[in-house]
Amino acid sequence: MNRQRVAILGATGSIGVNTLDVIERHPDRYEVVALSAATRVEPLLAQCAKFKPRFAVMTDAAAARELARRVEAERLPVTVLSGEGALEKVVVRDDVDTVMAAIVGAAGLASCLAAARAGKRLLLANKEALVVGGDLFMEAVRAGGATLLPIDSEHSAIFQSLPEDAATWQDRVDKIILTASGGPFRRREPATLRDVTPDQAVAHPNWVMGRKISVDSATMMNKALEVIEARYLFGLPPERLEVVIHPQSVIHSMVQYRDHSVVAQLGTPDMRVPIAYGLAWPGRIASGAEPLDFTRLADMTFESLDSHGHRERFPGLQLAWDALRGPAGTTAVLNAANEEAVAAFLDRRIRFDQIHGVNLATLERVSPSKPRELADLLALDARARQAARDAIAVAG
Ligand code: NAD
Ligand code: MG
Repeated sequence: MNRQRVAILGATGSIGVNTLDVIERHPDRYEVVALSAATRVEPLLAQCAKFKPRFAVMTDAAAARELARRVEAERLPVTVLSGEGALEKVVVRDDVDTVMAAIVGAAGLASCLAAARAGKRLLLANKEALVVGGDLFMEAVRAGGATLLPIDSEHSAIFQSLPEDAATWQDRVDKIILTASGGPFRRREPATLRDVTPDQAVAHPNWVMGRKISVDSATMMNKALEVIEARYLFGLPPERLEVVIHPQSVIHSMVQYRDHSVVAQLGTPDMRVPIAYGLAWPGRIASGAEPLDFTRLADMTFESLDSHGHRERFPGLQLAWDALRGPAGTTAVLNAANEEAVAAFLDRRIRFDQIHGVNLATLERVSPSKPRELADLLALDARARQAARDAIAVAG
């Protein structure tokens, strides 16, 4: 059997490291051909020494020079690349079968689109790329004949709970129900959210993740992005996408069928499960995750968004449905605003409870025209970021 040749974009991040952990368990099945990171040389160098990829891409030029120097000193058989378009050039290569898209934010959009157009097997962790790319992203997947496999645990769960004959399932399905843990502030008095510090916001009860997605989990903007992600991935209209709070994160999401049968996917909260599924689909391989011990499972509980003051505590969640009902491009505007607002919060330029106001103000000020190509999306993203920065300057 030929080994699957994998490029991992965002290799030094939480998803990247978990992907390498799964791959390491199956040296007979997977070969790492390329790794990428933004700025951190040491962890990427260590990964290069261990996995000996043909290419290492660093988007930061100074970091790339430093990595090249170290790779040469250690005589590693790795070519270091940087600069405009390096990621896009690597993902379309003939010796790359599979691309793990694990960059955080819209920064991963161009490489995702390139992989989609080149017909790769695309493992999508980078939800922001799909929220920005929307229908254009899905068209690139179709046009390129790519295989798009969701890595976000909820979307992997939905994918695993849907019938395999994808062409006809939409008339059999009533709705998709995404579960949400509610994050670290599920019981917090809404009025006290103004005092939240960055360290409190990134301390998630069930998952260890990068800082940006951790803040998004605390505001529940992560679930808003996931509702939008589900819309584009599975094609159901927004009113057939629901969210229920399930603090234990055992059920990763569910599909309710016409006959009211519900199919769910369960497991311990460990991202290696959806990563292993994406790598092996339609097969299954060992992931390294602990099995679920049903005899030790505490209660599984559920809360409606309309209970416990959740709508007031998490006002951003509703923006998913609002943005999906807006003109094409609105979800890109929301994503850009949120990326800027989260960065400003982590830099202590705005308070936690001001993130939502920045997102709202940006949506009000930026009216998108239908994006037709990547350049339109990038221009819209830049315009929305400028409006968000203006709103941040006023708020801060
Ligand atoms: P992270 O911050 O831990 O890692 C991000 C990676 O992207 C790093 O390797 C970094 O070097 C690289 N990167 C950052 N900015 C970049 C840029 N401008 N250009 C190129 N590379 C850049 O993030 P993460 O938690 O691993 O999340 C990655 C993606 O996966 C996000 O879109 C997130 O929403 C999604 N995701 C993560 C989890 C999780 O458990 N961590 C779960 C579901 C989905
Ligand atoms: Mg998720």
